[in-house]
Amino acid sequence: MIISGSIKDTRAQVKEWKKQGLTVGLVPTMGYLHEGHKSLIERARKENDRVCVSIFVNPMQFGPNEDLDSYPRDLERDSKICEDAGVDLIFHPEVSEMYGPNFCGFVDMHTLPEKLCGASRPVHFRGVQTVVSKLFHIMPADRAYFGQKDAQQLAIIRRMVIDLDFDIEIIGCPIIREDDGLAKSSRNTYLSSDERAQAVILNESLEEAMKAIEAGEKDADKVKQIITDKLNTCPLAKIDYVEVVSFDTIQPIEKIEGAVLIAIAVYIGTTRLIDNRIIM
Ligand code: AMP
Repeated sequence: MIISGSIKDTRAQVKEWKKQGLTVGLVPTMGYLHEGHKSLIERARKENDRVCVSIFVNPMQFGPNEDLDSYPRDLERDSKICEDAGVDLIFHPEVSEMYGPNFCGFVDMHTLPEKLCGASRPVHFRGVQTVVSKLFHIMPADRAYFGQKDAQQLAIIRRMVIDLDFDIEIIGCPIIREDDGLAKSSRNTYLSSDERAQAVILNESLEEAMKAIEAGEKDADKVKQIITDKLNTCPLAKIDYVEVVSFDTIQPIEKIEGAVLIAIAVYIGTTRLIDNRIIM
């Protein structure tokens, strides 16, 4: 397995594979890998001849008061996980390699980044689009794998690839959860044991909403109320947002029909967690 911090070497290696007629899958991550990341890598492994994983905690997608400095990092552990999962190349650049002197370019779009996480994290999706565009240029893969855990991110990347004509297929992969239903996340490591126990409320509230929808509920406001009421039973939970939107446009909808994203962001103590359900 190659571990490279160099844009030039990484691009040369991927181009060499492409020249040999091999297909390449890319899994962009911020590291501190868990089963969620592993499921993306396994899918990429099945569908491609070569698999690249990027590990880069991207400063551009963090706001000034967010957890850039405390975000967990462990390259040694991540390398072992990647090696065991059959990854061919880890791209692990320094910040200075990605954002050189006088860097001032960025990629952004209208509407999709404005609601949900974009409302409380105004620079986040601009940073995501910029770094993902750079990764697609550095590693010109055939397919890139993203988790539905970050559903708004997935919708934005899909839109970006269509609108800006990137020659890459975007594959969305299901959310991997702990045994009690909490969506796996590198940020779960911030939770105290009390907070960890109460964090199951996110999945439980979405489960109640899905039961109501399966029983015939079509009113988006009522679905939001079911989730809000459930979250409010949890002493440590503070709601950032509960939204029902079109999965294609990320705009609020009144009726549950078509491709629907039910998305929530909740502080458990000081840790902000997200979860969702997608109805296609
Ligand atoms: P991150 O390292 O948090 O930036 O995540 C890298 C990729 O892994 C993103 O596409 C995430 O959506 C995906 N991911 C993170 N957590 C999970 C999970 N629990 N299940 C599936 N995919 C996930």
